[in-house]
Amino acid sequence: MNDYRRYLTRDDLPAPLSRLTELALDLRWSWSHASDVLWETIDPDLWAATANPWLILETVSRDRLESLAADPAFRDELERQLAEREDNLNGPTWFGELDADGHLGTVAYFSMEFGLSESLPIYSGGLGILAGDMLKTASDLGVPMVGVGLLYQQGYFRQALNIDGAQLAYYPYNDPAMLPVIPLRNGDGGWLRVTVELPGRTLQLRCWEARVGRSRLLLLDANDLVNSPRDRGITGELYGGDNEARLTQEVILGIGGWRMLEHLGLSVRVCHLNEGHAALAVLERAASFARAHSLPFEVALRATRAGNLFTTHTPVPAAFDRFPPALARLYLQPYAEQWQLPFERILQLGRVDESGNGNGDEEFVPAYLALHGCGAANGVSRLHGEVSRRLFAMLFPRRPLSEVPVGHVTNGVHTPSWDSQQADLLWTRSCGKERWVGDLAEVGGGVRALADEELWEFRGASRQAFIAAVRSRLARQRASHGATEARIGETAQLLDPNALTLGFARRFTAYKRTNLLLSDPDRLSRLLTSTSRPVQLVMAGKAHPLDRNGQQMIKDWSAFIARPELHGRVVFVEDYDMAVAATLVQGVDLWINTPRRPWEASGTSGMKVLVNGGLNLSELDGWWAEAYAPELGWALGDRCEHDADAAWDAAEAEDLYRLLEEEIVPLFYTRDQNGVPREWVARIRESMARLTPAYSSNRMLREYVENYYLPQAKAVAEREGNGGKLATELEAWHRRLKDHWDSLRIGDLSWSREDAGWHADVQVYLDDLEPDDVAVELFADPDVRHRLQRIDPLPGAIHGYRYGATLPEDRDPQEYTARIVPIHPAASIPLEATEILWQPRN
Ligand SMILES: *Cc1c(COP(=O)(O)O)cnc(C)c1O
Repeated sequence: MNDYRRYLTRDDLPAPLSRLTELALDLRWSWSHASDVLWETIDPDLWAATANPWLILETVSRDRLESLAADPAFRDELERQLAEREDNLNGPTWFGELDADGHLGTVAYFSMEFGLSESLPIYSGGLGILAGDMLKTASDLGVPMVGVGLLYQQGYFRQALNIDGAQLAYYPYNDPAMLPVIPLRNGDGGWLRVTVELPGRTLQLRCWEARVGRSRLLLLDANDLVNSPRDRGITGELYGGDNEARLTQEVILGIGGWRMLEHLGLSVRVCHLNEGHAALAVLERAASFARAHSLPFEVALRATRAGNLFTTHTPVPAAFDRFPPALARLYLQPYAEQWQLPFERILQLGRVDESGNGNGDEEFVPAYLALHGCGAANGVSRLHGEVSRRLFAMLFPRRPLSEVPVGHVTNGVHTPSWDSQQADLLWTRSCGKERWVGDLAEVGGGVRALADEELWEFRGASRQAFIAAVRSRLARQRASHGATEARIGETAQLLDPNALTLGFARRFTAYKRTNLLLSDPDRLSRLLTSTSRPVQLVMAGKAHPLDRNGQQMIKDWSAFIARPELHGRVVFVEDYDMAVAATLVQGVDLWINTPRRPWEASGTSGMKVLVNGGLNLSELDGWWAEAYAPELGWALGDRCEHDADAAWDAAEAEDLYRLLEEEIVPLFYTRDQNGVPREWVARIRESMARLTPAYSSNRMLREYVENYYLPQAKAVAEREGNGGKLATELEAWHRRLKDHWDSLRIGDLSWSREDAGWHADVQVYLDDLEPDDVAVELFADPDVRHRLQRIDPLPGAIHGYRYGATLPEDRDPQEYTARIVPIHPAASIPLEATEILWQPRN
């Protein structure tokens, strides 16, 4: 505790309350609301305004604390909360039982942004929320994980709308003393700093730590007086500045991040790259291993890459970061020397063809570096896996798409962070208190058993609480714009607790088609103003300050909302952040999402409504393309891509209106004599029971652990062991392949009829390769492979062999093509050996 006491201005908590800091600094309060009562007792107003316990401790008066220290009830509650936290931290976990021998070590999760709570505003959107949900889930499941990120002075911009409905952007300063982070100390108690080299200078980075239950988030920050004024702003803004600023941040995150982990002596086996921004960690990791074991860089990369996992989130090529070679040279040349690599090699690793056949102007793409330096890669939904295989196909020339080595793990959300109080009670009653921290096998059954009435009452209570929350938020919003008392008072009448409530919150940007629902404002207005079947709409979202089109969409919505007939039926909640998101997803009946396929990659906001009994109406893109079934919600689109085709957009808008008018509104308002919409409730039940566990980050993280982290930890340990013996062997094997590949030859393929099927016979010439270095296969579209057996050497030929196999009769032999591919029991192919030779076809 003394560690941060030295930093704290408030180093004088009354002794009985000294351990309040432990609770205040553990971001577990962002999902476990057990300790809320303490903070609310200390300062109810500040708690309501900020929901930030650390800020409360930093702000509250000494007198108030003294009086609480003298209050036995408060002290008892504090003791109870501390004991509960200890139990939670030390209790058994899902992972503890799985990996009792600890061979996973620590997973380092690198991300440019982390969305843990609005009180730590170092995120902009989905990528960050995912990272935050990962750390929280790792804590729940006991997966040893540290996050690695940057502590921004301003983070992402904050939003308000002016009187004309135009967006205003603000960049409030994040005072680190008010954030729930503490300095990270090194062994002798000093503030841990790491350095990175920038052109012509060395940058000092301060290290910070945030606690997230069992997980830790380690953050780097350049705002240190020892740095020049210019450099102190490097970690100022998230996604601010130009291409050079971005590259500088990526150097800090990847290289600085890896150095920080080494300083701490953490045994990191798996390094998980959330998007390509931290790809340089791959090189720093390899170089460090090379130094420690006196190995050549390439062998060290071969060893360490097995422990790197690259998760791509990009749906289109334009979304990759790209740096001109001259800029890359400016920043990475100093590292070439440290890493004992020619700079050209660094550049190659960030290009399509890492073997060096690129042209001199080709840009340096961190996502390509990540792929060339990892042991596995994945997209973030089933569809995005396919899209990613297309995006990365050119890195694996002549391979069929199905063999491009990018799998998928569909995203999920940290259910306990997004459920409402009402949902928490309902799920606890039906599925138990520990429902989100196990393997979820039983979750769902309990919800299925709930009566219609109970579910419908739950929805009613949720909607009511939601509308109360929106009203008070709008009152504050109006007050902050200097509205009259009367205007502020009006907010108490906005929205109807019994009306069908539609909602969405998202970035206002072209691909999200945030204005699809607004394509025909009069038609939408008619839907919203029905007196017999009232419908209302609550929305939120930001447009990037440089996105003119996005800003215009906000204005268009503002103009619509200002129509007199819509008063009280449509509201815009400003400053979309995690708190706004939580409010919306907890209350709406229907979440609407209209991205342009396949741009959504996954999308997670629609997953957040599941636990709360909201239903989805969404484009068949991202997660919804795999989750949708008619008994669960509604779908837009035909599962095809249409780019920015205006006619298609119009057709989808028509479908959107039609679904709302003809199916959704009637279903919501078809009631039995008890006032229960039976069909609607049936969908709620099915959506909650089936989709909530499936699209939880619990399921997601367990997939990462079982399919990636554990096998990768094993693989990297094998390659690194014995001074890198296996890695050396693999590197030699690949060297051999590269040297001889162009001399391989496939001769005639002949077929004969046998009792058991078709017998294939092919002659191959392996130059100086060992027969065990390669496999000879028959391949047929789209994804059929048969391995051939080596039968005997060809008489008179040097390294010539006959290969053969008998194939089932279900296919015409003409459909098969013979090919030679690399093979090694320990290698991931084609990820780390892209060679392939196809039988010439004429
Ligand atoms: C969940 C969330 C997102 C991501 O939503 P998508 O549907 O994936 O775009 C963005 N911002 C905030 C504040 C969120 O809570």
